Amino acid sequence: MIIKLKRQLPLLASILASFAFGSPAIASECAGNPSAIGTSRTIVVDPRAHGRIGTMSYPETLPLRDKEVVLTFDDGPLPPYTSKILDILKSECVHATFFIVGSMAKAYPALVRRAYEEGHTIGTHSMSHPLAFRKLTEEQAKAQIEDGITATVQALGDPSHLAPFFRFPGFGRTNAADEYLASRGIMAWGADEPADDWKKISSDEIVRRAMRRLESKGGGVLLLHDIHARTLAALPTILKELKARGFRIVHVVPTHADRPATVTADADWLPRWRRRYVQPAIPIAAVLDPDGLVLAKKSADALCALTPVPRVKQASAEGRRKPAVQAKPAAQAKAASPAADRPSTHGKARSHEPPISVAGHGHHRRPHVERIRAEALGKRAMQ
Ligand SMILES: [Zn+2]
Repeated sequence: MIIKLKRQLPLLASILASFAFGSPAIASECAGNPSAIGTSRTIVVDPRAHGRIGTMSYPETLPLRDKEVVLTFDDGPLPPYTSKILDILKSECVHATFFIVGSMAKAYPALVRRAYEEGHTIGTHSMSHPLAFRKLTEEQAKAQIEDGITATVQALGDPSHLAPFFRFPGFGRTNAADEYLASRGIMAWGADEPADDWKKISSDEIVRRAMRRLESKGGGVLLLHDIHARTLAALPTILKELKARGFRIVHVVPTHADRPATVTADADWLPRWRRRYVQPAIPIAAVLDPDGLVLAKKSADALCALTPVPRVKQASAEGRRKPAVQAKPAAQAKAASPAADRPSTHGKARSHEPPISVAGHGHHRRPHVERIRAEALGKRAMQ
């Protein structure tokens, strides 16, 4: 217990510190730019606990709150765009994650170092960005991942400066490559919203698409590229719009010996738009007689455990109030009854016609509801 408490002390201290002093990079503290959006908070993630994020590729995403956005930049570094993007982020006190291509790191190592030194998180994005990553052999895929890491570490000069975060080029994930990353303790990053900035669209259109998608999902991991003039032109407006619409920027860093993971529940890693509680399927008609079904005496948990009644395509006479009526096979029923040739009575017309009571057309009587009621009545009769 004492050991556990000791381990949690730095975390408690950091939580208390954040309450007392706030996040170090909130907008009001952004030197020289009072209108900056800033970075609202930093979350620490453990790749071995939740190793695959981003709903464009995986079921889970980062444990963000409503209207929180994580900015990511792929494919660089490339002058002059990366350096100008770093200038913009610095002036707005925004921290992002850069997914570096190994060959670019070899060509422009100083830019990789600058991004790290300015507080951004550095992940990798393969060695040479093969567009058909999925078609690589397992060995080729491993080599792309490892060589990209080696080149980026060489640029950084210190392996501890590299986050164990990887994004597949062109989102070309495979199960084998996912498993390989997991075995190496590397977190696979998809994204939640693209801004289509790799397409030949205007910077205004990049802003529109980014904002529309972020609004529709209430935030998430935004995918951008620091190698295009149009992205550079769009970024100041994206940041301005994010601030105007109440979004907040979140910075993501990996766990470290003296930096425990941000405390989260597993459900926090589900995208917010999928966190809704799913109601059990209980037909309204069945609830009309709660005593008969003993629903009134059931706990909430027991109600949730009720098995939804399957939709009945082929109705039968089972559960009718007159059990003497036997079910007939559909073909037989059709032959026996002229009513079977009637046109569909769905829609408005249905309310003007009496329910058809022949076997094979019991769907008008909602037989599953009838069955539940019949079972309840049976139970009551036995009491
Ligand atoms: Zn890429």
